[in-house]
Amino acid sequence: MTDKTVAIFGSGVAGLSAALELAQFDIPIKIIEKSDFTGGHAIQFACKATDKCVKCGACLVEDKLNQALQNSRIKILTGSRIESISKTERYAIRLNQKPKYIDAKKCNACGACLYQCPQDGAIVQGTSRNHSPFFAINEKECRYLVDQSCSLCQEACPEKAIALDVRGDQVDCEADAIVWATGFSLFNPQNKPYGYGVFKNVVTNMELEGILRREGRVIRPSDGQSARKIAFIQCVGSRDAKLDHLWCSKICCGSALRMAGLINTKQPESEISFFYIDVQTFGRDFIPFYRRVQEEVRMIRAIPGDIFETPEGQLRVTYITGETHETIEEIFDCVVLSVGLQPCEENIEMTGQLNFKVSDSGFLVPSEIADEASNNGIFSAGAVGGPMGIAESIASAGETSLRVLKYLGF
Ligand SMILES: Cc1cc2nc3c(=O)[nH]c(=O)nc-3n(C[C@H](O)[C@H](O)[C@H](O)COP(=O)(O)OP(=O)(O)OC[C@H]3O[C@@H](n4cnc5c(N)ncnc54)[C@H](O)[C@@H]3O)c2cc1C
Repeated sequence: MTDKTVAIFGSGVAGLSAALELAQFDIPIKIIEKSDFTGGHAIQFACKATDKCVKCGACLVEDKLNQALQNSRIKILTGSRIESISKTERYAIRLNQKPKYIDAKKCNACGACLYQCPQDGAIVQGTSRNHSPFFAINEKECRYLVDQSCSLCQEACPEKAIALDVRGDQVDCEADAIVWATGFSLFNPQNKPYGYGVFKNVVTNMELEGILRREGRVIRPSDGQSARKIAFIQCVGSRDAKLDHLWCSKICCGSALRMAGLINTKQPESEISFFYIDVQTFGRDFIPFYRRVQEEVRMIRAIPGDIFETPEGQLRVTYITGETHETIEEIFDCVVLSVGLQPCEENIEMTGQLNFKVSDSGFLVPSEIADEASNNGIFSAGAVGGPMGIAESIASAGETSLRVLKYLGF
């Protein structure tokens, strides 16, 4: 075993992949994850297979997570916020760890806490069968943690796995190299004229992933009924000069069309309209898939101006056609906003501590050109360097691992 250690920030598919690559060289790895659950965004996706696999990549993440959890070289610290990083010979990293309100060894994922909790959003549920514990307490919503007015979950737990009065820890760790794989954040569409956050049946692409994963079909969040007329609106928060978000988020067209293909298979009675600027298609296998989906989905080259709710709770979408410049109004049961990927807010704060560069867009400058940082043992991997899909994030983590090994003298 080597005396070198590596810290990886972020347990998304990029962080997990880098950990698995490096662990093969007997390097002890600590993955530092700020959220309560591992796997990043992609662990929350639904499998989009129709009559055959459409290579969405969702299953790859579950697989990586499973492997990482079984690898004795890899330790994952969830609920951990990086407080400071300094370097003398090695990196010294100070973490603030959220209290472990739910004991992973005792929790049997029965859900009694969730059913008893009177406060929406106070208990959050993991999405992967590998999440342990499967539930977490949201400190901002939990009534006990806000004003000690409720401890029903603690009383309801048959395994006595919940303790709401525990404290968090300060953890110090050291590392010879750092892999920065903190991914991206999602554009918040609340300021767009689409009624997001006001009309229940306007959802984001990420929320639709959750609905498809849970329900296996599209339901209207307002009443749980199957949605028949569904609209996807692309490029919400991407390629938008007013927001200074000039980049294409790259994955949204493929992801939305795969979801449309899945919906058509599961709900053949559905009618899907796809509002777009132009379709970004990537990869060898996407074109035949796209041709097939075009036969089932109404492709409309226009971006709607605004959305209103009808008295019956449906959504009235207004758009101007590219061909005739006519204004058209149409009614839908559900509208899906394909919100774009944007840099995490913490990037700039963390780059200051780490002497790493951010590009003008706010995404990190990738390791291969951030020479100064790489010479100091800091390397980026995955979508923290800009929008990319799952396969590309895994490839980026592989490439980064080679740079880390070289830096550590392997
Ligand atoms: C709606 C949607 C659908 C998509 N569909 C597809 C698809 O079908 N196919 C496909 O190939 N790709 C798809 N993608 C892209 C896919 O999500 C990314 O390729 C993948 O998530 C990138 O992984 P990552 O590890 O780089 O980042 P992330 O998944 O963002 O993971 C980053 C991790 O770092 C953690 N983190 C963040 N900040 C910190 C911090 N300061 N300290 C510690 N931890 C931190 C986060 O909590 C998270 O766990 C989709 C994306 C979206 C939004």
